[in-house]
Amino acid sequence: AKGAGRNRYSYFTPTLQVAALSRMRLTNDLRNALKGEQFELYFQPIVHLDSGAIHKAEALIRWNHPQRGVVSPMEFIPLAESSGLIVEIGAWVFRESARWVRRWRQEVHPDFQVSLNQSPLEFQREGLSYECWLAHLQSLALPGQSLVVEITEGLLLDASNSVSNRLLQLRDAGIQVALDDFGTGYSSLSYLKKFDIDYLKIDRSFTRNLAPDSSDMALSEAIIVMAHKLDLKVIAEGVETPEQRDLLAAAGCDYGQGYLFAKPMPAAQFDAFLRDNAIP
Ligand code: C2E
Ligand code: CA
Ligand code: CA
Ligand code: CA
Repeated sequence: AKGAGRNRYSYFTPTLQVAALSRMRLTNDLRNALKGEQFELYFQPIVHLDSGAIHKAEALIRWNHPQRGVVSPMEFIPLAESSGLIVEIGAWVFRESARWVRRWRQEVHPDFQVSLNQSPLEFQREGLSYECWLAHLQSLALPGQSLVVEITEGLLLDASNSVSNRLLQLRDAGIQVALDDFGTGYSSLSYLKKFDIDYLKIDRSFTRNLAPDSSDMALSEAIIVMAHKLDLKVIAEGVETPEQRDLLAAAGCDYGQGYLFAKPMPAAQFDAFLRDNAIP
């Protein structure tokens, strides 16, 4: 595996009081983070298992906190949501993703795609308009297909029209949709038919325990067969070993993502990585 290194996230003393205080401080700091250009977009390759080609990447946000170092999105995205800052952060993630995907479509592969995450609150937020995204993409001469939006399956349980309207907006803009963390939540298969989804991302918890004849192997195989029948492509998350990659490939999984291929890395480094790993 490339780029093996220590996990650089900072975690805090798990005392409740301290936690509450540091949440408040962190929310305050978050307000200045955009102005201070403390956010950074990392990219992790999504590898086509048959060919080894890398024509996709997931964008993962990092916050370089001036005192604390790198803060995990797991920690600050919830704060960004409760404070409303997620709106500006999401807009920044979108613009950065567009900027980089443009370059990689021009210089690496014409169909290169960047996948970006939207938390449920972000996705359902009133006022979010993919028309506005599309206008920005058009100003960069990019088609909607340059981007994939990753949402979690829990969203699809929402019976209201807002989620299906949102998905239709994405579809109208040509932007693709991936169902993230598949298999962890309220997995119900009926919505895969009901909604127009392009990719299914098998959660890392399945990949982790893959072994021949294991129950997670059987489940993964079943998910892949089902997804293909419904015309979805499958991406396995958290691929860390060659064995996992081989088992997934044998089961017909389309793409893999994980430390075996590369850890998420800063955009400039990923740019170099793409050139080093280009398949002619
Ligand atoms: P996710 O969307 O499920 O992203 C995959 C996470 O798995 C990432 O953590 C990635 O670094 C990690 N990962 C990738 N390969 C491996 C592997 O082989 N082994 C292990 N153990 N981990 C692996 P990260 O970057 O810390 O992001 C955590 C979560 O934060 C993401 O989970 C996503 O839900 C959220 N997130 C990240 N960036 C954004 C963003 O721009 N906007 C929003 N709304 N959420 C984001
Ligand atoms: Ca994701
Ligand atoms: Ca995921
Ligand atoms: Ca996950």
